[in-house]
Amino acid sequence: MRVVLMGPPGAGKGTQAKRLAEKFRMAHLSSGDIFRAEKAGGSALGAKLAEYMSAGKLVPDEIVVDVMAKAIRECSAGGGLLLDGFPRTVPQAQALDKQLAASRTPLDAVVVITADDEQIVRRITGRRSCPKCGRIYHTEFMPPRENNVCDDDKATLDQRADDKEDVVRQRLEAYYRQTEPVIGYYRQSNGEHVVEVDGNRAPEEVTASLIEAVSRLAGA
Ligand code: AMP
Repeated sequence: MRVVLMGPPGAGKGTQAKRLAEKFRMAHLSSGDIFRAEKAGGSALGAKLAEYMSAGKLVPDEIVVDVMAKAIRECSAGGGLLLDGFPRTVPQAQALDKQLAASRTPLDAVVVITADDEQIVRRITGRRSCPKCGRIYHTEFMPPRENNVCDDDKATLDQRADDKEDVVRQRLEAYYRQTEPVIGYYRQSNGEHVVEVDGNRAPEEVTASLIEAVSRLAGA
């Protein structure tokens, strides 16, 4: 089964993608995670990616398509695939369609998680993570016991540079301008496989709706 998960930054894609991938035994490919790993590795490509990411801008299509095509080839030998954060522009969606058509493994579902802008800004700007163990916190919704310190290993928590409010607003603007048209593209080419799920709810409710939608769309 091949599924694309879409939605604005902060709609809960990352959390929901992990749950969906586990439930349906799909490989989970997050373009943001792949790019952050490349950045952390210190390569020339990583430095190029960082320029765009720290400004809240989309990475140019040629770079994204190259990196993601390779990642898809490496992991999708027969198995299920959940794409999270890719495609984010119409040219990326077209390149993905071409690659999946060539391997005769078309998309089964395009699922869009929706969320309100102000809720998104609140969710993202409060996000913190432990640099040592990776545990995720939220200053308001899931605070650590001691202010800004990991409960497990006492490391000082980090905020992603692109989770600061001005960058979040940039990322939202990029979403509406460049990524929302991708939903229209899929509705036109593959309308019966597209579904929207309301992300302004408790994470468990969103997960239940997503599982129901994917099961229905993929005929699982
Ligand atoms: P994310 O973790 O999905 O919010 O991605 C973090 C950042 O990586 C984004 O703000 C973009 O700068 C970049 N990025 C991730 N996926 C894509 C994509 N498909 N196209 C362009 N830029 C991307």
